[in-house]
Amino acid sequence: MKVKPLILLFILNTVVVLNGGLSSTFVFAASPVTLTAEEQAFIQAHPIITLGTGDAWEPYVIVGEDGQITGYDADILSQIKQLTGLEIRLLPGDWRERQTQAQRNEIDGLSTGGIHPERRIYLNFSDPYIRLNKFVLVTKGNPLNIRTRADLDGRSIAIHRGNLSDEKVAQSFPRSHIIPFNSIDSIIEAVSSGHVDATFDNGSMLYHANRIGSPYLQFALSINETLDLAFGIRKDWPEAISIINKGLRALGEAERQRIQARWFLTPLTNHETTTNQSTFLSAEETDFLNRLGSIRMCIDPNWMPLEALTADGHSQGIISDLIALLMHRLNHSTQLVYTANWAESLTSVQAGSCDIISAAAITPERSEYLNFTRPLLSEPLVIAIRTDNTFDGNLNHYFNQTFVMVSGHAAIELLRRQYPAMRIVEANDVTTALRAIANGDAFGYIDLMPTIAWTAQRNDILNIKIAGNLNEHYDLAIGVRKELPMLLSILSKAVASLNPDEIKTIRDHWTSVRYEQPADYRWLWPYFSGGILLLLFMLIWNHRLTRLNEALRTANARIVLLTITDELTGLFNRRYFHEVMPREWRRALRERRPLHLLLIDIDYFKLYNDGYGHPAGDVVLQSVGALLRERTRRGGDFAFRVGGEEFAILLTEVDRATAMAFAEELRMSTEKLGIPHRGNTVAPVVTLSLGLLSVAENAFDYPNAIPLNWENVYHRADDLLYQAKHAGRNCVAIGDWQASTPKLST
Ligand code: GH3
Ligand code: MG
Ligand code: MG
Repeated sequence: MKVKPLILLFILNTVVVLNGGLSSTFVFAASPVTLTAEEQAFIQAHPIITLGTGDAWEPYVIVGEDGQITGYDADILSQIKQLTGLEIRLLPGDWRERQTQAQRNEIDGLSTGGIHPERRIYLNFSDPYIRLNKFVLVTKGNPLNIRTRADLDGRSIAIHRGNLSDEKVAQSFPRSHIIPFNSIDSIIEAVSSGHVDATFDNGSMLYHANRIGSPYLQFALSINETLDLAFGIRKDWPEAISIINKGLRALGEAERQRIQARWFLTPLTNHETTTNQSTFLSAEETDFLNRLGSIRMCIDPNWMPLEALTADGHSQGIISDLIALLMHRLNHSTQLVYTANWAESLTSVQAGSCDIISAAAITPERSEYLNFTRPLLSEPLVIAIRTDNTFDGNLNHYFNQTFVMVSGHAAIELLRRQYPAMRIVEANDVTTALRAIANGDAFGYIDLMPTIAWTAQRNDILNIKIAGNLNEHYDLAIGVRKELPMLLSILSKAVASLNPDEIKTIRDHWTSVRYEQPADYRWLWPYFSGGILLLLFMLIWNHRLTRLNEALRTANARIVLLTITDELTGLFNRRYFHEVMPREWRRALRERRPLHLLLIDIDYFKLYNDGYGHPAGDVVLQSVGALLRERTRRGGDFAFRVGGEEFAILLTEVDRATAMAFAEELRMSTEKLGIPHRGNTVAPVVTLSLGLLSVAENAFDYPNAIPLNWENVYHRADDLLYQAKHAGRNCVAIGDWQASTPKLST
């Protein structure tokens, strides 16, 4: 959130005036506050009071990395303190937990809450300090064309669990499928990706989505539902309420709106996104576009995360999002011309089958038949090698080695021009090329950083690393057929209207690896000579190397992390299970510790998919995944998604009784998530069956016909899971390695 300097200045002025108690030339709108004797005595007795609040409610409450709290609420409270002397601190955290604490008077009350009858039982409320309008957010582009309440019939709506106001609004959508989520982030993810159709917001969600670089939500409709937020204070402190109300009144409406304008991206009352579409086009250009119709576009069908063709014939990726943004701005559209590969896209645009090519590097050869807009992106070219190889940063030293690159990519031209002696072989796609590196068939692969990371992650290619940066930037621009100069000018204007933040946000959404380019210090050279130059040069070189190495280390760590993570749930994946299980098994043996393996399967999940659709099924997998992740935060606990709707948890630091309680707790918590599941015959909600196998630290001391190794432990746990299914599901079957009959608990 950027704060305009002008506003900051204004606040500083305000503070000075109030603190100094001086009347100055500065005109302050608020009227003075007079406190009663009781109120003054209250402040004396309670100089600081603490209100609980949620930790995912930006911009009402924003918790900085240093723990400092800013945001709309903090600004209002700081004004109240200035005006009345009552200091109110915010204690952000899990909202449900904060409510429980307030009920028990462990904290003095709540901030950022609605005035609900349930809460009136234990809190008095101040006057409202902000009025929110509720509205519905949908996936960017509003693919389901949701404009009215009725359009939400039969659709899924995500709500934040524990948010009373969302829960109430949800009741007015009885024909929609309401799916509760545990975190705002997971709601944003689910709606952005289209797994859930809609969610409710009052500005917070949009703000948060932009903050985490996932601006793929948009306003769909407003629901006639307002929510007043007020400060709630424990019942036995009525003085606090009257002090706060005096403060709020003295603050005045204008000041409140100023604070509101500071924190909210759009006025709360008007969320319709306005675009300056076409305002920058001349009448002639608009006319040209209308006559042209949809712009026929060729893309690279296989170059993620930049762009690719999806199975259902759409484009996706950074470039695709940027083009969509441009089209939105131009109030125009593109039409994909399908090609099998990048080389074919280039021939198609030459032949005139498409009007533009979405993004290509600008090369002399291509400039024969294409005009280019200004670059949309500029990415460093990097080299990936096998983990056990080394690269000293100088390509000239590696001309006896083989490099592999993807056919048709302009970087080949660039490198051949610059390093004629380099041995480059061509591969059909990125995956093939990276596999060649991983297998040792070639030494290095050169491409853009995001592409390498993306491909390595999706193909489980673990043993490669980014070895260096080739000091070559690859500028990607829209290529427009030379025959269409008017289209070039239109697109150039649109590209010029993109601001760097918009591009960055889109790029960050698709890339998980950030790559920092070391600074260029060449400009310093003319200023130094001789020894100083050398010393300085060495210092700088060292610094550059450190930074570069750091960037590479982070990038490599990130690639490894991505390779062991299940994409849908964020849990560890099956492949990592096969890595961790034997390792932990050996450790348990060595240290003579118990080990517990819990296998988990969702009940009648096929019927869930059949009843609610596969995307809704994915959301369930995410919710269950989030629960498992939340419960396995300790160092010795690992949660994996080992199959479609099957999970495994490995517990290594706890005893048998704890493991049993843990399994039972998971079963119960899942049931309590309350995700409706009509096809489930054992409960009306989504449930789990679990098999828990405990291996005691002295398991080896007991003779057993079956060899005690981790594979057999896995099979035995799987048997237990099967028994839990047979015993009626929604239960835990527990077994010990040496025991022959399982025990069941429900
Ligand atoms: P049971 O209670 O015996 O476990 O019955 P079930 O229907 O859960 O078991 P079954 O193994 O027959 O079906 C598993 C289903 O899980 C099949 C498939 O539709 C679904 N599934 C697997 N992977 C995914 C996924 O990634 N997303 C979604 N939505 N569904 C999945
Ligand atoms: Mg199954
Ligand atoms: Mg199942």
